[in-house]
Amino acid sequence: MKIAWFCIPAHGHTNPTLGVVKELTEVGHEVYYFSFGQFREKLEKTGAHFISCDGYEPDMEGEDAAERVGKDMAFATELLVKATLALDEMVSEKIKEINPDLIVSDSVAFWGKLTAMKYNLPYVSSTTTFAFNKQSSKYMKHGIGELCKMLFSMPKINRHLKVLRKHGYPVKNILEIVSNDNETNTIVYTSKDFQPCAETFSEKYCFIGPSIRPVENSIEKTRELTIYISMGTVMKNPDIYQHCIEALGNTDYQVIISLGENTIDNEQVPDNIEIYDSVDQMAVLSIADVFLTHCGMNSTSEALYYQVPLILSPQTPEQGAVAKRVQELGAGMMLKKTDVKGIKSTFEEVLTKEFYKENAIRISEAFKKCGGAKEARAYLERLVEDE
Ligand code: UDP
Repeated sequence: MKIAWFCIPAHGHTNPTLGVVKELTEVGHEVYYFSFGQFREKLEKTGAHFISCDGYEPDMEGEDAAERVGKDMAFATELLVKATLALDEMVSEKIKEINPDLIVSDSVAFWGKLTAMKYNLPYVSSTTTFAFNKQSSKYMKHGIGELCKMLFSMPKINRHLKVLRKHGYPVKNILEIVSNDNETNTIVYTSKDFQPCAETFSEKYCFIGPSIRPVENSIEKTRELTIYISMGTVMKNPDIYQHCIEALGNTDYQVIISLGENTIDNEQVPDNIEIYDSVDQMAVLSIADVFLTHCGMNSTSEALYYQVPLILSPQTPEQGAVAKRVQELGAGMMLKKTDVKGIKSTFEEVLTKEFYKENAIRISEAFKKCGGAKEARAYLERLVEDE
């Protein structure tokens, strides 16, 4: 079978798909992956045909798009319309050339879903966050109800939608694009146990469990207790790193920090702290005893897979939902105060109470029972056969 796969330029949305794409190509299916240059190497390694969307990004001059998009739904909507229109001609041409049996698209790469609508192709949502519906979105501070009100009241968005229609996208309203209902075939990269309100999703949802990459560059455990700190690859929050260095410097802990998009003044970093722009997160998690995370879905799942309890510092509503679920299942503690004292006492609490570790182990065991990439492949094959 031939699959056209769409994703946004983000590690957190691309990484979980890699195992599934590899599984598909290994049995002879063809995957045409529409993504961005930065991800080319990773994607080609899976056996996919890489199709570059570089140069078709919408013009967002002066905007810190990556940061805003998770927090400001109105902005995100505008971005999706502009992105779809910018990509329209190139994507249309490629789709006619490839003639795919199926489109798989990241749940926020809306241009993928719109392309499926335009060409009347079967569509599968690839959801790298929790699946959100009326019930599970209650885990976020801004529920779907609020979101609807806001979206419908935006004349600017409606004007944009008109333009989409003119270009052949039969879209009725914005909700149809941004929401996922129980009729939508959906791959979710988590377990049913970890997904909030899992029982409210239909059998069209395939919960395959988190996607864990192999360790490539192992890292040495130098102390009895290892702390890992990362706010992911997108978030900017240098203050938290500075406070952690102050709170955890010159202690008995081995502290590994991945800075991602952040920079800090690291001239005088104590010996027990190692600072990197980016780490092999699987390697670090395999030796870590606790992880201070922004609660990105991937980082959180990867840590729990490795049975590492968490300190939770979410920055967006979606990360807030992940944090809430981890807390509910007892595998982590919220970082309420980001001053030196607050950081110190939270680490001590999570490192000394068995409770957090035990619950992380429980979640890990459920993850390991999931069907993974093989289940996703079988699911996609079934969908195409049934067409
Ligand atoms: N990651 C990594 N090395 C790092 C930091 C992050 O490999 O130093 C990976 C991490 O394993 C995860 C992804 O980047 O797969 C981050 O995704 P997540 O959803 O946690 O957060 P985002 O970066 O999208 O906010």
